[in-house]
Amino acid sequence: MRNLKIDGKRLWDDIHETGTIGGTAKGGVRRLTLSDEDRRVRDWFKAQCEALGCSVTVDAVGNMFALRPGKNPNLPPIAMGSHLDTQPSGGKFDGVLGVLAGLEALRTLHDNGVETEAPFLLVNWTNEEGSRFTPAVMGSGAFAGALKVEDVHAKADRDGVTFAQAIDAIGYRGAAPVGGRKLSAYFELHIEQGPFLEAEGKTIGVVTHVQGMRWFNGVCTGVDGHAGATPMFKRADALLSVARLVDRIDKIARSHGPTAVGTIGELTPAAPSINVVQGEVRFTIDLRDPKDEVLEVMEAEVRAAAAEIAAMNGTSFVIERIWKAAPIPFDADCVAAVREAAAISSHATRDCISGASHDAAYVQSVAPAAMIFIPSADGLSHNELESSSFDDCAAGAQVLLDAALLYDSRLAGR
Ligand SMILES: [Zn+2]
Repeated sequence: MRNLKIDGKRLWDDIHETGTIGGTAKGGVRRLTLSDEDRRVRDWFKAQCEALGCSVTVDAVGNMFALRPGKNPNLPPIAMGSHLDTQPSGGKFDGVLGVLAGLEALRTLHDNGVETEAPFLLVNWTNEEGSRFTPAVMGSGAFAGALKVEDVHAKADRDGVTFAQAIDAIGYRGAAPVGGRKLSAYFELHIEQGPFLEAEGKTIGVVTHVQGMRWFNGVCTGVDGHAGATPMFKRADALLSVARLVDRIDKIARSHGPTAVGTIGELTPAAPSINVVQGEVRFTIDLRDPKDEVLEVMEAEVRAAAAEIAAMNGTSFVIERIWKAAPIPFDADCVAAVREAAAISSHATRDCISGASHDAAYVQSVAPAAMIFIPSADGLSHNELESSSFDDCAAGAQVLLDAALLYDSRLAGR
């Protein structure tokens, strides 16, 4: 394998150039999926790929694929990618880094006149973030066959605009069918979005798994009451019950060690008012851990805690599980390629379990996949202040290119 060096400065300039598309005053990015800002960054991405001689195709849910031919057109491509959409107050690195590092890898191959054995494919997945249209990781989910294209097109945002209307408005409903496309492998570089690499002074996270998760919608029912006239002993306060459950979920998650997490991220009283004891409160629960057995126990403990709290003050809980994703191990050969690629550049590594779901997790269900993490300053993400260093971004892009090339040389040798 030739010793090809990516251009860290060019990557850094791209991160900052795309950061101006939907850029916010605090240095973050607001680029909601299928918005006009999304159209602009897609146009930019397409032009950059075409300038390298890649052909860009778009599928019916807007996933973009830039193909760089290899020596052997019969081999399925080795893919790299991530997403260009952001949270409403997102940063410059989440998702974008993986796409731009893939672009930098293609440019490096182009500048050095390298012909790989397999074609290389760079992907921008639609709607990874899930903040305008739910669920998240929608484009890769449809690609993997976990979501139906009609269902994706029918999703509506808060203003009632459907996915189909939004994708047509920006002109990115492509002609290519969704999924059914073979990949030799898929590598995704992403910021860690957590604190471990930075805390341990490691540059590269070798991601071995995506942890499992379970999502729930809940409703707690009590009795509406006057805040002045209802004595404490007469109350059936739904908000109090949910507040107690928030505390219990925190304790349950902490009791299962450092990898388990539990969150109530939405809590909505039916009729919020300063002088009303709340009779109905809706809420969500998000539980995650790398082991499905642990999630099973956590769910049982949450249900038991809710029953106990409900009995304490005359309220009742209905908790419905709306989504369950088992933990996903990445492909052993792809993970080994990442580890070996990090060793080529003598980077300090750490095995990581991804706390967030990622496009790579869906891709792993249809092709061998792996992920590379680089440190996030203070572990911050989904935050305008999200940041990663110049050196770490460059290191991640180099490992991405080298892992793909290692995998390619193995395909050549087969
Ligand atoms: Zn992301």
